[in-house]
Amino acid sequence: MGEATTLRPLALASHPASRISHPGSNYDVIIIGGGLSGLAAAVELASRGASVALFEQSQRLGGRCYSYVDEKTGDVVDNGQHVLLGAYRNTLRYLSLIGTRNLLKEEGTLRLPLYHPEKGRAVFRILPFPKPLHLTAGALKFKLLSWYDRKKLLDVGLELMRWNPGLERKLSSLTITEWLEGLHQSDEARRCVWFPIAISVMNEVPERASALLFARSLKQAFLGKQSDSALLLPTVGQTELYVTGAEKFLQEREVKLFITAEVQAIEVMNASVGGIRVQGRGLVRAEKVIGTVPYYALEKILPREYLNVEPFAHLRHFDSSPIVSIHLWFDREFMEDEYIGLIDGTVQWLFNRHRMMNKKGKKTSYLSAVISGARGTVDLTKEELVRRAVNDIHAAYPNSGSAILVHSLVIKEKRATFSPTNEVEQLRPSAETSIEGLYLAGDWTATGLPATIEGAVLSGFRAAKLVR
Ligand SMILES: Cc1cc2nc3c(=O)[nH]c(=O)nc-3n(C[C@H](O)[C@H](O)[C@H](O)COP(=O)(O)OP(=O)(O)OC[C@H]3O[C@@H](n4cnc5c(N)ncnc54)[C@H](O)[C@@H]3O)c2cc1C
Repeated sequence: MGEATTLRPLALASHPASRISHPGSNYDVIIIGGGLSGLAAAVELASRGASVALFEQSQRLGGRCYSYVDEKTGDVVDNGQHVLLGAYRNTLRYLSLIGTRNLLKEEGTLRLPLYHPEKGRAVFRILPFPKPLHLTAGALKFKLLSWYDRKKLLDVGLELMRWNPGLERKLSSLTITEWLEGLHQSDEARRCVWFPIAISVMNEVPERASALLFARSLKQAFLGKQSDSALLLPTVGQTELYVTGAEKFLQEREVKLFITAEVQAIEVMNASVGGIRVQGRGLVRAEKVIGTVPYYALEKILPREYLNVEPFAHLRHFDSSPIVSIHLWFDREFMEDEYIGLIDGTVQWLFNRHRMMNKKGKKTSYLSAVISGARGTVDLTKEELVRRAVNDIHAAYPNSGSAILVHSLVIKEKRATFSPTNEVEQLRPSAETSIEGLYLAGDWTATGLPATIEGAVLSGFRAAKLVR
């Protein structure tokens, strides 16, 4: 085993607490990966006074959740619009700890404006009544569906209220489509309500996605406090929301943050972790390591002999699902909503970034169009994606006809999240592993949730708590 060499800590001029690490440094805990699960683990451990070093291969922290300033317009662009729910308790705690909770706008209760190509617009909402009346009243007022279909929506609520181990077993063998068909949800109900919600929650088409994970997400959102179902909209880019405050928090507590530091191997001896090997820099020793990298990256850094050992032997069964984000700037404002779901569109959800970020004074508009579960569209050209998105926008906003598209960007996240099927749900690993001292975190581990920010943060907190 070689010596650990000096690595480059993240330069944060405004935080002098940042120290240079010395050759041979040891840490209580090493975290591999600086996405939200890694940052959450670091925040949790730093709060307890542990000596922690975090290694991130890329030039920035935040992982699959980042933003940058677009040179042409000066607007902050996210790699994909992220939306949170009131039920994201771990995420809200994380944001409170790093001091950015106030940068979310809270809507109180769920409100989903939807555009239907034949029937026009309607809002699906949860009304501020006591449970379960809030669901009943909201569903019965949803005018895109027939009276019969509205009443049938309530069967889904009733099913969730009967939650028990038997129901979990049943759901774990069904796709979302099979589950909803079994509850006699009509084609129109699936098209107007369930598809727009499911595709964005699961990032997978309902014919493939696990009913158990979806039902659990619905239960958390709809059967808890009313505010649990409400959307929480960021008023800043996601780097400012999730990363900048975390860097400050961690550096003030002397956590070492290393960027452009690719971990090439996890060192294991006698079934116990001994440290990590970092590209071009040798060994960094620690008895506790939290791996927070995605499943496809973990495979590359595990000792080969462990690739056939549980839980790692299952990594090859995971698959990814893409998200495409189309960022569009028009010469004038025409979208009065902050966000809207486009039924049957290529684009499923459209976000009005200037409005969300309180930049109403700007004359131009900046819209972010999202296609989740995008296997069928991810290989289209930028021109085709922009053309389809603009067509969807013209249909939903006839007043946009004369608006001129002045700038566009397409961001394709081909491995946006793991694909949440029932088969894979059984194989998601827990935080503790068969290697002593090695813990796992990340949105793809066994969080009980689809791949979300909440799952990532929860898994990071959980792994950190297991480290004694
Ligand atoms: C476009 C898009 C839209 C999304 N929308 C939503 C949404 O609306 N709501 C929601 O809740 N969630 C959403 N998500 C999901 C959410 O972003 C992820 O679940 C979350 O960011 C995952 O965090 P993570 O820490 O588990 O993984 P990651 O963010 O992937 O972090 C892992 C880190 O490990 C690093 N790494 C990998 N290998 C190595 C190595 N060998 N050495 C060192 N570092 C390494 C990577 O560079 C990365 O920074 C969206 C995701 C995308 C891509």
